[in-house]
Amino acid sequence: MTDKPEKLNPQEIMHEYLRRDKSFPHLWCTGCGIGIVMGSLIRAIYEQKIDRDRIVMVSGIGCSSRMPIYLDFNTLHTTHGRAVAFATGIKFARPELEVIVVTGDGDVAAIGGNHLIHACRRNVNLTVVCINNNIYGMTGGQVSPTTPLGGRATTAPYGSAATAFDLCKLAGAAGAPFVARGTTVNPRAIERLLIQAFEKKGFSFIDVWSQCPTYYGRFNEFADTVEMMDWMKEHTFPVKAAKRRETAEEIGESYERAEEPAEGMFPVGVLVDIERPEYVEEYEKVIERARKEAGE
Ligand code: SF4
Repeated sequence: MTDKPEKLNPQEIMHEYLRRDKSFPHLWCTGCGIGIVMGSLIRAIYEQKIDRDRIVMVSGIGCSSRMPIYLDFNTLHTTHGRAVAFATGIKFARPELEVIVVTGDGDVAAIGGNHLIHACRRNVNLTVVCINNNIYGMTGGQVSPTTPLGGRATTAPYGSAATAFDLCKLAGAAGAPFVARGTTVNPRAIERLLIQAFEKKGFSFIDVWSQCPTYYGRFNEFADTVEMMDWMKEHTFPVKAAKRRETAEEIGESYERAEEPAEGMFPVGVLVDIERPEYVEEYEKVIERARKEAGE
């Protein structure tokens, strides 16, 4: 289903979905990566021809959580950390809707951490996009659950003493059937991951690494946005290389022969893609059983 004309040019695609008259100028800093992710999200929705009236975009609090304010969908800007909980409620009430959560690392993995792991476990059919910039942006540059060990922040001026969460491992271990990672270095790859997530029936979690030059970059002595993006490029590798490594393990080859990534390197691409019973559907079955046993 679609409510838009075909063959828009790239600028028209953006204009088609932005609330240009009401909400701009946006508040994101120069060089911030959130706009890149928003562009990928718009293009993915356009490519999938999803009727905008079927989309509900939900966010919590933070720089990335401002995104629904700028987009012309059904939108809900909720409380800090609770976006996944609100989105779960929407999906229960209207399972036919495409519910997308846009969140940040502080919002979804600290304040909302418990909501995240239980949504993964339940397997609610949502798409959660975490724009992960390793720090709290809007509230002033505090340490977040993805600030790396030794990374500096306003609340860690001499470096964080805590090891960061790998959000993909967290989501995968909690049971999410679709888990992927992208970076703002490759907006087209983010777009492809989003399309896969929309097509997946189940909880889809995409960890998108993004740059916050204003806080994380400044505190951690990155010269500029380009240097931050170079860092992401240098510390990631395509998941296909990791898959080759697993295959090599299975057939007994040595790790060395199968492209073992160096310490501190992270795979990008689809990391988990499995099938599991979806929560809302399972819940409907429970109601059906209860009705049957009650003789209704
Ligand atoms: Fe982006 Fe950081 Fe500025 Fe927030 S504070 S808009 S995350 S650069």
